[in-house]
Parts: sequence; structure tokens; C-alpha cells
Amino acid sequence: MGSLLFQKFDPLNLKFFSSESNKVIEFITGYYKNVDKYPVRSQVKPGFLLNLYPKEAPFQPTSLESILQEIETNIIPGITHWQSPNFYAYFPATTSNAAFHGEMLCNALNVVGFNWICSPAATELEMIVMDWLGKMLNLPQSFLFAGNGGGVIHGSTSEGLVCVLAAARDKALKQYGEDNITKLVVYASDQTHFVVKKAAKLVGIPPRNFRVIPTSLSTCFALKPNDVMMAIERDLESGLVPLFLCATAGATPSSSVDPVEGLGLLAQKYSMWLHIEAAYAGSAFICPELRHYLQGIEFADSISMNLHKWLLTNMDCSCLWVKSPRVLLDSLSMTDEVLRNEASESKQVVDFMDWQIASSKRFRALKLWFVLRRYGIHNIMTHIRSDIELAKHFEALVKSDNRFEVVVPVKFSLVCFRLKPYEKEGEESSKVLNWKLMEAVNSSGRAYMTHAVLGDIFVIRCAIGTSLTEERHVSELWKLIQEKTDVVLE
Ligand SMILES: *Cc1c(COP(=O)(O)O)cnc(C)c1O
Repeated sequence: MGSLLFQKFDPLNLKFFSSESNKVIEFITGYYKNVDKYPVRSQVKPGFLLNLYPKEAPFQPTSLESILQEIETNIIPGITHWQSPNFYAYFPATTSNAAFHGEMLCNALNVVGFNWICSPAATELEMIVMDWLGKMLNLPQSFLFAGNGGGVIHGSTSEGLVCVLAAARDKALKQYGEDNITKLVVYASDQTHFVVKKAAKLVGIPPRNFRVIPTSLSTCFALKPNDVMMAIERDLESGLVPLFLCATAGATPSSSVDPVEGLGLLAQKYSMWLHIEAAYAGSAFICPELRHYLQGIEFADSISMNLHKWLLTNMDCSCLWVKSPRVLLDSLSMTDEVLRNEASESKQVVDFMDWQIASSKRFRALKLWFVLRRYGIHNIMTHIRSDIELAKHFEALVKSDNRFEVVVPVKFSLVCFRLKPYEKEGEESSKVLNWKLMEAVNSSGRAYMTHAVLGDIFVIRCAIGTSLTEERHVSELWKLIQEKTDVVLE
């Protein structure tokens, strides 16, 4: 008879840890090797998986082998393969060995770093990588911890936006009085991602006070500072309070870039918070030849970017820098007896829970640190530049066929193109035709692209740059598009 009065379940069974983990790694290796053989966009019908499984969780355990088998037969068909070299939809979610290994370690240590003492290395490594990255982007010193600003890693741009909008709101309400929240106004363009509007709504800015300023092809869909100024003046005349101006660097529809300097001068003139939203294109500014897009950044109060898009850092890793952590902390900092500790009280440490929505915090810095250490700035710049070259290659292919046009010049790795409208028939028929072409490509399973509407121009977006995409894939894509064009135009 043993002495145990109860049975302890052993979930972290080290006897099998290595051999089982190796089986999963082998499965993943096989997946990556064959990912180009699956239809890129999942072809299942709604409910396909819901109908496959029982309504109750299993009472008895299942072997790893059976589960991996089911992944292959049941899950993979319902996957849209973001890691396929033929994925050109939305923006790519790049993957790398370094990030994968960093994420594995993050999972293994599984620390919850809400304050410094919860894992001093988690906090300090995040400070280190955010300053490293800030310098790689040539951000003004005032955004770095070394210059009394600082950065934090969130899971998404939305989270960062909620935090900075809350900070800007509370700073303004301190000045104007809490009852004036209904007077605060946020400005953005018609190319701005909807997450900005959503974040503004979440922090209590009335949706009627969210100004969407129109853009047009004449500026390649960038905001005109004068248009913003006129909107601000109108709001001032109505007794409203301009609060927050969002400049997008690399907007989702066509990767347009708002003029940071011109908008910065406005933000300064009207005492508004200027945020630079660079979810996609931010990573590109590591290359000196692309930094001119951020000219005027010294006027900004905050800047954010999703490294899980272009910077080889698997989901999720969204970086936010602020010039004034104090303003952020004034809005987000909470005290609670259970959190009380000497380090925090000494005011010598950063407690990242005061920089984000949640209390719990993943050790994402480890993943980013792996990417920066393993590849170095040199390889990261090569990665960005080769994607831009690939996009230029595709742009040239499109331009070589006079049935097509590239609607806005390529800045980064996104190409917006379309079949030209017939002379007499106009935009509506062009939209129908291009939608047909895009669907013909996507339903073939051989590639996946998505669309945008710029002004009233319907474009097909070809977002180049998954980790596995090579020149031959882009050339194949163009052949596929031409093949389907012949069918659509028949
Ligand atoms: C992808 C993207 C986002 C996504 O926001 P999340 O909150 O991270 O999902 C926001 N803005 C732009 C410009 C994007 O391209």
C-alpha cells in the first residue's frame, strides 16, 4: 500500500517530453515541406468541423499519434495556409525558425510577467529589445527607455491604440473636465484601419466624433494636412475638442503613407496626440532608404507596428513606443495589495502591467530577442529588401500586359492592380470583371489574393512576402492570373 491519499495527475511528464515533442516537430517539418500542395484558401463549407466532432469532450485520453492523424485529416482541410508560398492575401504573417524557437522557450518557461518581480528578466529583456528595435528604426531618442520614453510589446495594434487613446483622453479630461468626454474628436483617413475607430469607441469617444477624412488617387490616398485642418477648424467652431490624430504609414488597402511632418505640425498647433499607425510597413523602416516616410516623426507621441506581419516574429508581437510613459501610466496604472512588492515601491523598475490592458503578460520579448540575435540587422534588412524586389518584379509583370494596370506605384511589398475597365463600360463593370478574375484564381487553390476599393476603384491586392515565397512562385502566380484572365475575358 502506498502512502498517497490521492492521485496526482502528471501533466508535465518528463519521461515522454522529448520523444513526444519530437513527433510534433516532425509533423510540423512535414507540414512546411508540403504546404504548397494544399489549396491556399480553405475550400470547406461552413460547419464542416462542427459536424465532425461529438458534442462532449472525451472522457478518456487520446494518443498523440491519433491526434496528429486527425490534424492531417480534419484540421488541415479547414486551414487557409498563411504559410503557403502562394499566399498573397491581406498581409503576410511571416514565420521564422528563430521566432519559433523563442516561442517554444516562452511556452516552456510560461512566466506571467505583470510586474518586474514576476520575472525581472522578462521585463528587462523587453526593455532591451524595444530600445534595440527603436534604434534600428532610427526613432528619436525620446521614444527609448534610454531617453525617458519607452516601448512595450502587445498582442495587437488594437490593444496599443486603446492604451494610447485612453492616455490621450485622460490627459485632455484633466484639462477640460470629465463631463467633456463627448466633446473629444479623433481624426483619421478613409484608408485608416477600422481598429482605430473601434479603439476610439472602446475608450468612450462618441462614434459621431470620429472624423474620417477622404483621400484620393491624386495623393496616392495619403491625407492632405489642409483637409485635416479644415475639419479641425469646423469642430472648434462647434465647440468640440480635437484630441487625437492618427497618421497611417502603410495603410491596409494600398499601403498609402500619410505625411507625418505636415500632420505633426497640425498636432502641435492644436495640441493633439499624434499616433503613427504602421502595423504593416513599420518593419520596412529598418532600411535607411525607406525611412523618409517617417520624416517628422519627432512630432509624434506614439508609434505602433505589428512585427508578426513582416518582421519574421510569429504571432503575436505588436510593438508600441510612447514618448511619455508617465501619461500612459496616469491612465492605466492600478494599485492592489496583492501586487505590492519592494521593487515596485522603489520606483526603480518598470511594471509592464501599467502599459497594457491586461494584468497577465506573455514573455514575447524572448521571441523578438531570438529573431534579432539569430539574424542580426544585416539579414533582417536583406529580408525586407528582397520582398520589395519581388513586389517590383510582379509590378513589372503586370505592367508588361496592356490589359492590366497598376493602380498606385508600389512602395513596399503590396501591389494593387486590376484589369483596365473597357472604355464605355466604366467602374461598375470593371469591378465585376476583376472580382471574377480574383475568384477564378482563389478557387483554383493555387494562390490566394484579396481586394480593396480605393475611392471607387476596385483593385486586386497582391501582398508579397510569406517566408517561403520565392521569385518562381511570383512568376507562377502571374502565369495563373494570365491563364484565368483569358477565361474571364472570353
Ligand atoms: C493588419 C493591420 C492592423 C491590424 O490590427 P490588429 O489590432 O493588430 O489586428 C491594423 N492596421 C493596419 C494598417 C494593418 O495593416
